[in-house]
Amino acid sequence: LEPWRDPQARPYVRIEGVTKRFGEFTAVDDVSLDIFRSELFALLGASGCGKTTLLRMLAGFERPTSGRILIDDQDVTAMPPYERPVNMMFQSYALFPHMSVEQNVAFGLKQDSVPKAELKARVGEALELVQLGPWARRKPHQLSGGQRQRVALARALVKRPKLLLLDEPLAALDKKLREKTQFELMNIQDEVGVTFVVVTHDQEEAMTLSTRMAVMDRGRVMQVGTPSEVYEFPSTRFTADFIGSINVFEGRVRSIDGDLVVVESPQFGGELEVASQARVAQGQTVWVAVRPEKISIAPRGEGGAKEGRRRNAADGVVQDIAYLGDTSVFRVDIGNGTLIEVTQTNLFRSIERPIDWDARVTLSWTANVGLILSE
Ligand code: ATP
Repeated sequence: LEPWRDPQARPYVRIEGVTKRFGEFTAVDDVSLDIFRSELFALLGASGCGKTTLLRMLAGFERPTSGRILIDDQDVTAMPPYERPVNMMFQSYALFPHMSVEQNVAFGLKQDSVPKAELKARVGEALELVQLGPWARRKPHQLSGGQRQRVALARALVKRPKLLLLDEPLAALDKKLREKTQFELMNIQDEVGVTFVVVTHDQEEAMTLSTRMAVMDRGRVMQVGTPSEVYEFPSTRFTADFIGSINVFEGRVRSIDGDLVVVESPQFGGELEVASQARVAQGQTVWVAVRPEKISIAPRGEGGAKEGRRRNAADGVVQDIAYLGDTSVFRVDIGNGTLIEVTQTNLFRSIERPIDWDARVTLSWTANVGLILSE
């Protein structure tokens, strides 16, 4: 049982109703979160949403205007950074340019007057962990971006914090290296078992890395969940749209029959049906959302595709195709100025009957892949 599903589990970090104001401006607005031991927890949101401010309050660099922060049941709200069992890795890495890799990693331990033999052993261990042993004598300017990132990580881990805070740890790396480093970071976290809180604006990064994430907007937490929960069951239009892409149709609830909600949507140009537990009332305005990869696309009149408008089905014309190698993204015009995005996995090297620009197609999906969003 994952700790966040266990009502008995004690959170390692507890953020209780934390608000941070800078003058009139509210950067963090009444945030409550529980983070468990050994989690890799992501704070995800667009620039300015308050994620860094929240991280800095965990580190002790900022003091909440109101609310409390507990680490391991201890109220640390007023505790200075150096007394907390916490270390922070900055986006800039903040390495000392005149020091070697080894000296950079040893720096914090030296300041704490760790005995020489222990210092040597711990630095060796940390460099081993991030696979930088052979580069121990190099200076930061002689390293690649990815290696510098690993020095910063080793320097943060060598102090054996219980909680490691990482502010955009991979932002300085190019895409390929970032993807590779995501897996390294996960492996290292798994090995050391330290609780990680990572700030990122990159939703793919949050999805790949995290055990759970908090999606933030304008200082507030919009949703907390595992990557698949947040992707498959976004609670609001904001999260649905922020994580991945999604088709959204505004409409009105026409009928509710057990789990099956039927929505009349002028934007879709017909009825939609969704198998949903959402609590909605007849006549209520709702938004029906469907992920692009859950929609099937077929040349009109083929593959058993019936023509004409039915629930969760529409005829349309392909307006754009983005070929992405592994997938293709189609934008299909279904009339009324409504475009539906459809993603298809490119299973074969050459599609027998490729769906091309201007192709007349039928789109359809099942009731159980749709979502009802009420805000
Ligand atoms: P980014 O990814 O761009 O760093 P963020 O989500 O981390 O964004 P924060 O750095 O937490 O956002 O900032 C949230 C808001 O608070 C921003 O609008 C920022 O301008 C404001 N802010 C942050 N620190 C201060 C400060 N010391 N004084 C005044 N306003 C601040």
